[in-house]
Amino acid sequence: MTNATTTDFALVGGGIVGLATALNLQSRHPRAKITLLEKEPQPALHQTGRNSGVIHAGVYYAPGSLKARFCAQGVAATNAFCAEHGIATQTCGKLIVATDASELPRMETLESRARANGIRIERLSGADARKLEPNISAIGALLSPSTGIVDYAEMARKMAALFTSRGGMLQLGTQVTGGDETAQGVTLHTTHGTISAGKAVFCAGLQADRMAARFGAQVDFRIIPFRGDYFAIKNQPADLVQHLIYPIPDPERPFLGVHLTRKMNGGFTVGPSAVLAGAREGYAKTSLNPTDLAAALSYPGFWKLLAKNAASAADELASALSRKRYLKKVQRYCARIELADLAPYKSGIRAQAVARDGRIIDDFLFVDSRHSLHVCNAPSPAATSALPIAAHIVDRLLGDA
Ligand SMILES: Cc1cc2nc3c(=O)[nH]c(=O)nc-3n(C[C@H](O)[C@H](O)[C@H](O)COP(=O)(O)OP(=O)(O)OC[C@H]3O[C@@H](n4cnc5c(N)ncnc54)[C@H](O)[C@@H]3O)c2cc1C
Repeated sequence: MTNATTTDFALVGGGIVGLATALNLQSRHPRAKITLLEKEPQPALHQTGRNSGVIHAGVYYAPGSLKARFCAQGVAATNAFCAEHGIATQTCGKLIVATDASELPRMETLESRARANGIRIERLSGADARKLEPNISAIGALLSPSTGIVDYAEMARKMAALFTSRGGMLQLGTQVTGGDETAQGVTLHTTHGTISAGKAVFCAGLQADRMAARFGAQVDFRIIPFRGDYFAIKNQPADLVQHLIYPIPDPERPFLGVHLTRKMNGGFTVGPSAVLAGAREGYAKTSLNPTDLAAALSYPGFWKLLAKNAASAADELASALSRKRYLKKVQRYCARIELADLAPYKSGIRAQAVARDGRIIDDFLFVDSRHSLHVCNAPSPAATSALPIAAHIVDRLLGDA
């Protein structure tokens, strides 16, 4: 059965970015009819529910970028939201550790970047780092005291509950299949009928490029899905580490490296890896979606990216295929973790926008037209940054930016 409805604002995607945007719109237009469409039976089943759960402090991002700005604002906003709504967080801090002398210059560059971003950072000697974390090997480290952890899926579910309790329409199990923008607004075709909206915001994560293309947005990028496998750590004491432990990132690689993360429900994980996913939203190791795979392999940007990063891509693939090799990355900074300690844990898939020339689109990217806005690139730290991102989206949508 199909029906046709109207709404003032339509939002597509019930991840943390779509839900935060819905709440922000609602706070500015309490009387408006706001409809959020999510294809899954529950919110937060994709990136928002499958990530490291880190409230990033904002150490890594290029000064002046949207990531640097929204992440710094996002730490405070996330902690405040969680405190107000009874969601547990822990500001456990993070150590970014150098284990080899060749990493020390990069560590200094990272420290300067954190300072340029106005982020609190402390440089530690190897001995001081080991005093803080006796189970960790380090010849030097950066301490980011304001980094924390949270369960972003819990945050997103709370946002969904607030949205509906304030009169928002949350339509789960409703996939947007296409539509177009007219002089009056946006028409969205869904698996449950057509919706006419005054304005629309698309926060479709791993499907962002497809949504943009189906609505005629002028964009030239493709979402390349990067799979990240994690392991849970067994057989280790509850005080294995007090902080999150990250390696010094390699500037040649787009992601932060395999890190040792404390979880909100206790315990630790290591991960994530970074290899091309065979399906954008399939999480079993064997998941394969021919359309998704063809979309990546037929895109010139993917091959150019691969050519530029052949060595690191080969290393990532080898580590994804061999636990022993994966373990070596972890043992560089935590030698006491052994093969038998690695237990399976849920994986995540990152939506990373890549340009036709093979460039990773590093910053958050929003593309707007007269009546709509597409969130085209919202990778990490977009969960940390979701609340300021939402404010930015609504400013642009309402013409206040
Ligand atoms: C492995 C991994 C580790 C990460 N670690 C961190 C971290 O520690 N800290 C951090 O800040 N960030 C982290 N991130 C990034 C963070 O998870 C994402 O940036 C954030 O969740 C993006 O939220 P989103 O709402 O844009 O996307 P999503 O959570 O993916 O939500 C998009 C939603 O849109 C829906 N949708 C798509 N197409 C349609 C359609 N046609 N119709 C209806 N609905 C549709 C999907 O079902 C989905 O629910 C990590 C990500 C990954 C994958």
